[in-house]
Amino acid sequence: GKKPRGRSTPRRPPKKPSNNQKDPVGVYCRVRPLGAEDEECCIEVISNTTIQLHAPDGLKANRNGEFKETQYSFKKVFGIKTTQRELFADVAKPLVEDLIHCKNGLLFTYGVTGSGKTYTMTGSPGQGGLLPRSLDMIFNSIGPYQAKRYVFKPDDKNGMEVQNQVDALLDRQKRDSQTSVPKTPTTRRIDPEFADMISPEEACKAGEVDEDSSYSVFVSYIEIYNNYIYDLLEETPFDPIKPKPPQSKILREDQNHNMYVAGCTEVEVKSTEEAFEVFWRGQKKRRIANTQLNRESSRSHSVFIIKLAQAPLDADGDNVLQDKSQVNVSQLCLVDLAGSERTSRTRAEGNRLREAGNINQSLMTLRTCIEVLRENQMCGTNKMVPYRDSKVTHLFKNYFDGEGKVRMVVCVNPKADDYEETLLVMRFAEMTQEVEVARPVDRPICGFAAGRRQRNQAFKDELTHRLEERGGPVDGVLNQLLQSFHPLPPCEISGPNDDVTLPRLIDALEKRHKIRKLMVEEYNKTANMLKSVLQEQDSNLLSKENFIQEQRGRLGEKDKMIQNQKNEIDRLEKKSKMLEYKIDILQKTTNIYEEDKRSLQHELESREQRLQREMSEKRRMETRMQGIVTDAKLKWEKECERRVNAKQLEMQNKLWVKDEKLKQLKAIVTEGKTENRQPQRPSREKDKVPAKRSVSPSPVPTVRPDPHFPRPGSVSVASCISEWEQGVPHSRRQGSQSPPDSRKRAQGLPDSLRRRRGRCWTGPLVRPLHRRSHSAGGERWVDHKPTTNVDLDTVLQPNIPNAIKVNAPNEKALSKCDKYVLTHQEFASDGEIQTKLIKGEVFKTRGGGQAVQFTDIETLKQENPVAASRKRRSSETGPDGEPMERNWTNVETRCSVAVEMRAGSNLGPGYQHHGYPKRRKP
Ligand code: ADP
Ligand code: MG
Repeated sequence: GKKPRGRSTPRRPPKKPSNNQKDPVGVYCRVRPLGAEDEECCIEVISNTTIQLHAPDGLKANRNGEFKETQYSFKKVFGIKTTQRELFADVAKPLVEDLIHCKNGLLFTYGVTGSGKTYTMTGSPGQGGLLPRSLDMIFNSIGPYQAKRYVFKPDDKNGMEVQNQVDALLDRQKRDSQTSVPKTPTTRRIDPEFADMISPEEACKAGEVDEDSSYSVFVSYIEIYNNYIYDLLEETPFDPIKPKPPQSKILREDQNHNMYVAGCTEVEVKSTEEAFEVFWRGQKKRRIANTQLNRESSRSHSVFIIKLAQAPLDADGDNVLQDKSQVNVSQLCLVDLAGSERTSRTRAEGNRLREAGNINQSLMTLRTCIEVLRENQMCGTNKMVPYRDSKVTHLFKNYFDGEGKVRMVVCVNPKADDYEETLLVMRFAEMTQEVEVARPVDRPICGFAAGRRQRNQAFKDELTHRLEERGGPVDGVLNQLLQSFHPLPPCEISGPNDDVTLPRLIDALEKRHKIRKLMVEEYNKTANMLKSVLQEQDSNLLSKENFIQEQRGRLGEKDKMIQNQKNEIDRLEKKSKMLEYKIDILQKTTNIYEEDKRSLQHELESREQRLQREMSEKRRMETRMQGIVTDAKLKWEKECERRVNAKQLEMQNKLWVKDEKLKQLKAIVTEGKTENRQPQRPSREKDKVPAKRSVSPSPVPTVRPDPHFPRPGSVSVASCISEWEQGVPHSRRQGSQSPPDSRKRAQGLPDSLRRRRGRCWTGPLVRPLHRRSHSAGGERWVDHKPTTNVDLDTVLQPNIPNAIKVNAPNEKALSKCDKYVLTHQEFASDGEIQTKLIKGEVFKTRGGGQAVQFTDIETLKQENPVAASRKRRSSETGPDGEPMERNWTNVETRCSVAVEMRAGSNLGPGYQHHGYPKRRKP
């Protein structure tokens, strides 16, 4: 009827763990000593939590030093000197404590074959591993409180039933009658193979064992090979004729969602020796099966399951409470995993390869599960963990998504051959440490008064003691009662008439009766008193109970509050973890962005530099282009100016010619009858001139005699223009009168200047020019050859007989001749030397001077001899030591104006100016 405990199932449904506290998987590392045949050691224990791996020499050379030392940290690192006892104390002892306090545990060894997994789990004689030590500690702790055999009985659904005393006794008798089953542990011989696993002085004991419960230990031993589960404790009747191959088992889920091997043998054991003997039986079976089936034991996983059933004693503390719901079962799984090495290392072939592959598959699934769990927990994701992909992970699913304590011992062999595999083991181990498992909740036992087993015993002891002391309960009480009365008087009747004895007896009895009455009264009084006291106590007790009830209620509320707060804390912790993770991600992202930024900045800088370089290059180009442009501009300006001037001069020349003709016409008109020497001009021309003159009265360039310009070659056209501009209006105003001073100044000037003056306004306006008379066939020439000319030595040399050869025209020579020729040389565009013979007629001006009217230009072409430049240089100074004309091709410097009769022109003579003003010359 009473249900004082607040739980109805022995194991919590894992789907809704009542507790949000989590602990990471405890990962320990054990380094085994280097084998005698191995030389190089590549693992170093740095501290009691860290190891360092360094690549073996050969590998270093291969990878070009790529592998540096790597460090791995664990909850604890056990070096080669660690004893089995020390390892047990750190790794397995807390799990056994938990087991006794109704909490589940899972302990597995992981590592490469030969790294010491089996040594760690099982150990060797004298060096018991974690398994025998765990069994020993369990029995040392619960030894006195063990239930009788078969009181607890496993059902076939992973649950535990409680049998009544009679059924249990019957089962025991049945077992004893079976000869095949070994007798009680004390009578059997210990197998030498597992003798001395644990020395008695190393015995461990759990603290705070609940003495008001009764306990029982059950063990199972299974092997998982090639993803098949085999029960190593199954009692198969041996058939020597047709041996049955071992049958594989399947996994099932019980009502609490715990996984179990269906139909797996669970052997109840009552002592360390018995338990270890059972283990050894399984071990032997495993060995036989492996040899028979040609399996490799290192490729299989072995799982040893210790189940501890406990149930409270009844209120008397005598028997186990007959209530299945009060039975609590906890279990500790000890797993020796298969070697973690890759298939290639085992040189597996054919059938074995397939098996090995599968075994690897199951370890791979384990790694995947751990990885997914870790990701789910760290990222808050809800990815499906592939527990079902292999039997090992499926079997231990509840430890990871339910509750329990999980620990792993990573075994490493420091030899060089294992280095690469060890690296993988280390990575897996580090990852495993990040997985968290729900912490099993404490389930305090409450309800019945504590310590009833002890009190009951104490009462029994006291009772026995007292009974022995007093010599039987009935005699003692009667004696005591009888002693409180007076003894009866002698009641022997002496005779029939004895009147003394009877009345005396009557009297005594009456007295006694009286006393008895008194005593009864007294007794009743006392009883009543006691009754009232008891009633009082009872009411007291009731009120106290009420009070306790009340307090319990409050306690419950507080508990609820605490639970709520715990939940809140858990939620916040989870949140903070999430945030931390996010921060981590953001940090990483920031790092990436910063790196990007840096690289972009770098690129920007380089681009800016390039841009600057290009800019400066551009500026240089600009200045260069500007230079070129200004040069070209200057050249073109010069060219334009030259052309404009040429045109101007030409026009002026035309004008002058017309003026001259007009003057001649005038002279003919005025002095026609006396003078016959004026030149014969075509009448058409003469008619045109006055009309033209009126249309374009452009000024004619004139040169005024200037003492500062004694050389004719250096007279500029510009100066002629300015002279003319000053002179013409004056002469026009004065009609045909020329100023006498200018005429006077013209005296003694070089001929070319004077003739121009005469042409412009002195000569022609006063009187017409006269052509020099000459005898027929006897023309006299002034052969003007400037000293700067190149001697060409060609047949095309103009050769004029009977000519006066001059370097510069002078009046004396001109006065003697009537024809003038200037041999002018210049470079043609094709590089040839062009020789022009500019011919003219010499006229006498009315002022007494000489004037030349150009009539023709003859052009001779001659290829430029290579020596030309040399010759020119040699002739830079003339015979009279005067500096020569540098610009020797310039016609204008020799005779400012020339008149050309265009060849092939039927329109009469055309006029072309061959000179232009030389600005740069002073
Ligand atoms: P695994 O089970 O990992 O394949 P074992 O446990 O069989 O490896 O160990 C291989 C060998 O190394 C065994 O002979 C074992 O006695 C020895 N050995 C392993 N670990 C240790 C250790 N810590 N101290 C001494 N010997 C060890
Ligand atoms: Mg092994």
